Amino acid sequence: MKLIVVSNREPYRVETSRGRGRLEKTVGGLVSALEPILRKEGGVWICWGRKGQKTPLETRITEDFLMKQVPLTSNDVSEYYYGFSNETLWPLCHMFLNRTHFDSRYWLGYRRVNRKFARAVSEVYTPGSKILVNDYQLALVPKLLKEQGIEDTIYMFWHIPFPPYFMLRFLPQRREILEGMLGADVIGFHTQHYVHNFQECARDILGALYDDDTIYWNGRKIKVRAIPIGIDVERWERLTSEPKVVKYARNLRKKLGVEYVGIGVDRLDYTKGLEEKFRGIGRFFEKYPSFRGKVSFIQIAAPTRTRLEDYMDIKRKTDEIVGMIEGKFGEPGWVPIYYYYKNYRDERLASLYMVADFALVTPLIDGLNLVSKEYVASKRDNDGVLILSEFAGVSVQLMDGALIVNPFDEEAIAEAIYMALKMRKRERRERMEMLKKKVVNEDIHWWLKNFLKDVSA
Ligand code: UDP
Repeated sequence: MKLIVVSNREPYRVETSRGRGRLEKTVGGLVSALEPILRKEGGVWICWGRKGQKTPLETRITEDFLMKQVPLTSNDVSEYYYGFSNETLWPLCHMFLNRTHFDSRYWLGYRRVNRKFARAVSEVYTPGSKILVNDYQLALVPKLLKEQGIEDTIYMFWHIPFPPYFMLRFLPQRREILEGMLGADVIGFHTQHYVHNFQECARDILGALYDDDTIYWNGRKIKVRAIPIGIDVERWERLTSEPKVVKYARNLRKKLGVEYVGIGVDRLDYTKGLEEKFRGIGRFFEKYPSFRGKVSFIQIAAPTRTRLEDYMDIKRKTDEIVGMIEGKFGEPGWVPIYYYYKNYRDERLASLYMVADFALVTPLIDGLNLVSKEYVASKRDNDGVLILSEFAGVSVQLMDGALIVNPFDEEAIAEAIYMALKMRKRERRERMEMLKKKVVNEDIHWWLKNFLKDVSA
């Protein structure tokens, strides 16, 4: 089987220094999840080409793994990527109507680029391939592929929340988006809740019929599945047993000089709830002053979509609140929140996960959230507490072992931190074992095998 993965994001960026090209793996949930599979099993990854890119648009990663980039103009990037994808669909699907921009030029750009992607697929397609189209940037691609006469099963996975009818109906192009997706034969979402939303939208907007796992539309049967993506557990286990990763963790722990360390790793996106998280941490230090000087929290905030006003706005607000907490609670010799606005490689993240006694994963809403699974996979000693937002898709899988919080409730975050620090070792271990079981059993291989299984199976 030849696997053709189609996604907006490229799995590698070609960095050139002193005339030599070096492949740098890009940051993001999808890449973390699928890159190891293509490396192992081969195939083609079709993705965007950055504007002005001088490097070739086809890069051989291994003998059997080709990255093929679709060249985009600067108008394409503005209208398709920043515009319709990230100023219209992203906020709408995450229920931020007040941040959703509607602009007909964005839509034209989105349609144009989706056509380019579909053409790129047909150039590498051979019968018998499995095609996996990913995410909200490429909703029209499945239908376009069907129109090109591709008969093999087309899979589409929607990695972000799928909104309920009362949100999607605000979108002028709601029909086109649904019809585009329904060009696929199998559509996957992370949770049953998103599946329901999609089914109801298909019924209420298109007049489609549905039962448990099938939508009946235009004389076709389309399977819909709730199947949360997993991580490459073995990779995190390998990373956390590398001597340099372990050594970094050990040294860091010493340098921090506190009894307890917390970790947060997020893109700096308004959906991730960083402001609310920091308010919760502030509330914790206010309520439990005896922990001042004893707990430090490390937050990685990876820059993302930095040219959009909403992202500049969240950056300003986050900087401000971190400064406020430092100013209010910090003392010479003790930093309550270490805050880094940069991207880290997974090796460094592995060390940070190892060091952390607790992780605060508190998005306001999140399609799934891979960081929570990475934290669990990195806890080789089964000691650590995961504090998790009830509005992250992953909470469906991890609710038994994690401390579940409402991320809008700073009081609840403060209490969860307190509980995590006071929790007995035995309970920490039991909870982590439960989490581990889920993360290990439902890893990326499990996801791929179950998602890409034949329609008739
Ligand atoms: N990540 C990374 N470096 C960073 C921050 C994040 O490699 O500095 C990775 C992280 O390990 C995870 C992914 O980015 O695999 C984030 O995925 P998640 O599902 O948590 O959120 P998303 O960014 O997809 O919304």
